[in-house]
Order: sequence, then structure tokens, then C-alpha cells
Amino acid sequence: MIKRALNILKQYYGYSYFKQGQQKIIQNILEKRDVFCVMPTGGGKSICYQIPALMLEGITLVICPLISLMKDQVDNLRNIGIDAEYINSTLSLNDIDRIINLCKNNKVKLLYIAPERLENSYFCNLIKKLKISQVAVDEAHCVSQWGHDFRTSYTYIKSFIYSLSERPIITSFTATATEEVRKDSINLLGIINPYVYSGGFDRNNLSINIHKEMDKLEFVKSYIREKEYESGIIYCATRKEVDGLYEYLRERGFYVSKYHGGLDDKLKHKFQEDFLFEKLNVMVATNAFGMGIDKSNVRYIIHFTMPKNIESYYQEIGRGGRDGEKCECHLLYSRNDIERQEYIINTSSSFNRRAIEIMKLNEIIKLCETEQCYRKVILNYFGDNSHNNFCNNCSNCFNNQELKDFTIEAQKILSCIYRTREKVGISVLTDILRGIPGPKIIANKYDSLSTYGLMKEYSGKYIKEIIDSLILQGYLSKKENTYSMVKLNEKSISILKNKHKVLLLLEESSDSRIEDEELFKKLRIMRKDIASWNNIKPYMIFSDSTLIEMANLKPTNSKEMMLIAGVGEVKFNKYGKYFINIIKNYNLKLKNTKNS
Ligand code: ADP
Repeated sequence: MIKRALNILKQYYGYSYFKQGQQKIIQNILEKRDVFCVMPTGGGKSICYQIPALMLEGITLVICPLISLMKDQVDNLRNIGIDAEYINSTLSLNDIDRIINLCKNNKVKLLYIAPERLENSYFCNLIKKLKISQVAVDEAHCVSQWGHDFRTSYTYIKSFIYSLSERPIITSFTATATEEVRKDSINLLGIINPYVYSGGFDRNNLSINIHKEMDKLEFVKSYIREKEYESGIIYCATRKEVDGLYEYLRERGFYVSKYHGGLDDKLKHKFQEDFLFEKLNVMVATNAFGMGIDKSNVRYIIHFTMPKNIESYYQEIGRGGRDGEKCECHLLYSRNDIERQEYIINTSSSFNRRAIEIMKLNEIIKLCETEQCYRKVILNYFGDNSHNNFCNNCSNCFNNQELKDFTIEAQKILSCIYRTREKVGISVLTDILRGIPGPKIIANKYDSLSTYGLMKEYSGKYIKEIIDSLILQGYLSKKENTYSMVKLNEKSISILKNKHKVLLLLEESSDSRIEDEELFKKLRIMRKDIASWNNIKPYMIFSDSTLIEMANLKPTNSKEMMLIAGVGEVKFNKYGKYFINIIKNYNLKLKNTKNS
């Protein structure tokens, strides 16, 4: 059974291994046992019910709270050759009839619906006639009053399931569930003796940074300038704050998008699409943005104001790095935020909920003011006490870090500057150290220097960070009137002569798995082009992780390409050749520059 599941994983999704927890969950579902699964965002919940859906007889009904998420999920499934449909309020009655007919004729394996559908008895009677083998409840915490986004319509799920002539397997999935919410949800969904999987809440690819009382506007400007090519979301507390920040950034020449509930639907749609189709990389929004967004390659999340509770904060940062790659999260905390959130709670929450909301607000204030590891505090809040005292991926852990000895790295860099006679800028210097045969390097024979390739195990970004720190600490000087040229000074010489140690406050390796940034960039451009020809979102073609693996392994034929994680049969047939061509041309260019 599991062998067949593995074949499906490879054939459709292009992955050779299950992620943690997936196999056991799938196995239980196939053995007809109910499941309650808590997995962090990006943990791979969808595959847990999608693969059984393909293996079980009949249909899997997926209850999904957000219309846009539903569409994205269905588009994704169709893009890999799986028969999926959705029914929601955006469809006409004719469309709904057409889809029900497809279901009757066994042409649909997964049918996504919004929970509100189950309030409609006409609709319920229609689908009761179908063979429903699994009901998969996404965002299962929405059924609980204790959850932070309770939805009344979720309470209809249980009675619907129990009105079916044959009880289907009930599977439920959530990323955030405290013990209380967990018990409540199992009960309210009518789940019986489930296999409970709790994969914890930790998202270790998110770095959590909280900045106290800093100049928020200055931070945002310099940050988004530095991350020009990456997608990010800036969350604000109110619509007014979104409008204000959006105007401020626009007036200063930044291309940003915005989103909040007060915009008219057309505009909202346009701004959202600009971001999802990567026409604009920055989204300024209230927390209304992102709930139904499946964009997997959000590389940073900034909270311009402290959110109202830890659940919201964790859910919002959870929208970053869904592909498992790094995402930086920055919360800009000021004590003024407290009053603002109190005001919002007092004016918008019902009397009964106010006390709970204020209690939750106090917890997030404690988080912002703690000196402990932020990740540990958050995970403890969710009842996970298993985490170490330090995560080394949050700003408190960074601040508690001791200075590290970077003397060897500094000597390699300084010696390369010496050997290139201070004639190259930081980028070329970095490429020489990494052993990348760019045109300037070949033309000037820098590839014959003893420092060529001396730091090839370091990423370009990391080397640049070390250089920046050396400049900042006065171990190296910038050349006057140049943008990126550097020169040695007295301190540099004493480091080269081993008379001085270099101690820096830098993470061990702050960067990424990307070995060839230039090829990665070219593959990303290709992805964006294919996406716009097909009018689908770039991350639906291939995820960032898949492109990074392509850039690192450089597959040039179908066999090699099919070994890349995320390249399944259907996607390979549709898009494989474009990426192979890019890689072949890139290899050729590298070879030519090396030979010329
Ligand atoms: P969740 O619903 O838990 O947030 P998703 O189901 O959206 O997570 O999966 C997150 C990412 O992980 C997606 O890009 C998905 O393709 C990828 N993924 C899922 N299962 C696997 C696997 N077995 N191997 C590699 N990547 C996987």
C-alpha cells in the first residue's frame, strides 16, 4: 500500500521521500482510521489527504475555509494531472451542475468546498448521493470557539457527515492547535478514536527578529531596498496604517502593492494578483491578506505593528517560507503599539471575548519584551516544551551569541585583495574567492591566483557579510569615491601577518543553499515567463526549492531532470525542456568564457 503511495508521490508530485509524519498519516487513512494532524505550515499537510484520495474509492470532500486557497489548491492539482474541482459562491448554478455530473461519472477525485455550502440543504442532498470516502477538514481549528478564527459554518460539518448513509473517514489538519482547541475540534467534528499526529509547531526556516523602538520607516525602506528581488509582506494593524505606509513608500519610488478589507473588490484583486504573479514584490497589508494565499516563496515578513496575539503573529509569519526555504521575520515593536491594540480590541470585540483578547495581548507583549529565545517562548505558548533554550535563529539568540573567530576567513579575503592589487570590487572579489569563472576573472587571469576558489564552500552572500563586517570593524577600508572598491589598511596588514585576531558577531553561515546565484536568477526569470504565458502563478510552475536544486545540480537531460525534487511527470512534460535549455546555454556560456 505504502509502495503505491510512494509511486504516486514520485509520479505526480516529483518527490522521492515522504516528509516527517506523512507516511504514518497516509497509512492510517488507508487503513480507514480518522486522523487529527497538527503540522506546521509548510509541513506538507495537503499530500497527507491528497494521496489517499487518489487511492480510495470514490471522492474526497475537502472542506476549505477560503475561496482563493481552494482555487489555488485545485489549480495546483490540475497542473500535476490530478482530477480536482471546487464548488463555491463564485460559480454559477450551471457550473455546479456540471461539476456534480463530473463527480457522478467518477471524473473527480478531490472536491473542494467552503464550509458554508453545508448550510445549504439542496446542495447537501445533491452530494449525499456521491460516494464520499474521505472528508478532509483543512484548518480544523476553525471549528473551536477557543481558536482564533472560529467559523460558525464549521459546526455544520459533523451533522453533514453523520447524515451520510456510509460514514466516511474524517481527517483533519491544522497548523495551530493548543491542547484545548485540539480536544474541542476532535469532539466538534465527530472524529472517533483518531490517529493523532503532532508534528510540533516549529518552523525552523523562519528566523524570528523583534526590534524594539526602532525607526520603523527607515528600517522598512532600507530592508526592502536590499531585498529588491525577493517577495515579502509588510503587515500593518489597520487599514489606515496600510494606506499611509503604501503612500509613503510609493512617494519614495518603491513599487509596492497593498491589500485590506476596505478596498473595492476589483482593486483588491488587482493588487493581490500583482503580488502573486510577481509583478510587484512587496505587499503592504492588514492580516486580511494571506489567509487564502498559497504563495510558497515569500522570503520575508515584516510586522510594522505588534499583532494582537501570538496566534495571529505565528499564523502571519507562517505565510513565509512555505517551500521550506529561509524566510526572515521582523517584528517592529514599540510600546505605543500596546495602546493601539487595546483600542482595537475594545472597539471591535464582543464583550465576552474582550477578556480573552486582553489576556492574549498580554502574552504577545511578554514575548516582545523577553530576553529569552523567541522561538522557545512561542513554542511554549503552544504547549510544546520540548525545545532547547537557544534556537540560534532569532534575534535574542543572535544577541546572546558570543563573538566568533573569523581570522582565517579574514586572511583569505585580505590576501585576495592584496593579490588583485586592490583593483576589483566586492562582487568580483567574492566570485574569485568562490572560484566562479566570470568574464572579468578570466580576462584578468584571476583564476590563476592562489586565492581563486579558496572559499568555495561559502555562499556569495555570506562572504559579502564578512567583508561588510570587516569594513565596519575597521579591518578593511572602502576606497574613496567608489561604490564597492576596498583597500587594505594598517589593521589589515597586521591580520595578514597573524598579529591580530578578528572577532565578529556573525552567524555561522547565514545563508542559503544556492550555489549558483546567477543560474538561479535565470531559472526564476524562465519560471516567470512560463507563468505569464500560461496565466498561472510562478510558484505553481516549480517551487523555489526545486529551482535551487536545479541551479545546484544543473540537469541537462530528462533523466537528470526527473531526479530533481518537485519535478513530476506531468510538470516535466509541460515545462522540463525550457529549464533544460536554460541550463545547457548557461553551461555553454561558462565553458566559452573559460576557454576564451
Ligand atoms: P501545508 O499545507 O502543511 O502548509 P503544503 O501541503 O502546502 O504544506 O506543502 C508545503 C510544501 O512542501 C509544498 O511546496 C509541497 O510541494 C512540499 N512538499 C510536500 N510534501 C513533500 C515531500 N514529501 N517532499 C518534498 N516536498 C514536499
